[in-house]
Amino acid sequence: MPRRKRFRKIVAPPSFDGYKPYGASINSKQSIEFFYEEYEAMRLADYDMLNHQEAAELMGVSRATFARIYETARRKIAKAFVESLEIVTVYGNAWMENAWYSCASCQAKFTLPENNVKQLCPLCGSKSFELLNVIQNE
Ligand SMILES: [Zn+2]
Repeated sequence: MPRRKRFRKIVAPPSFDGYKPYGASINSKQSIEFFYEEYEAMRLADYDMLNHQEAAELMGVSRATFARIYETARRKIAKAFVESLEIVTVYGNAWMENAWYSCASCQAKFTLPENNVKQLCPLCGSKSFELLNVIQNE
């Protein structure tokens, strides 16, 4: 299954769905699609301060692939900043070990323990949430 190689492991989805600039005239017809794996690459390199080799191993990709994802992420952020564009997070080619859900009521993203029988959003108690990811085994 060569297709599986395209997927990049991430620990958790971003907790937001996007960013909007303010105090600028916004070109609302255009937005930047920011993939989950690009968010993860920036988080690992610029927030957790890992080097590219460590980050690549966590995401299950080569150092070169990590560098490419990271570079694309930085260019997208720079373009969004300079051109006052909205950023919209999209699933991309990520995969996560746990099932993640997105609440339709409070927008929280969360996992549920396997013994959770109530199936309610842990933050607001809503029953209205949907599975965010496709579970894949390595
Ligand atoms: Zn909720």
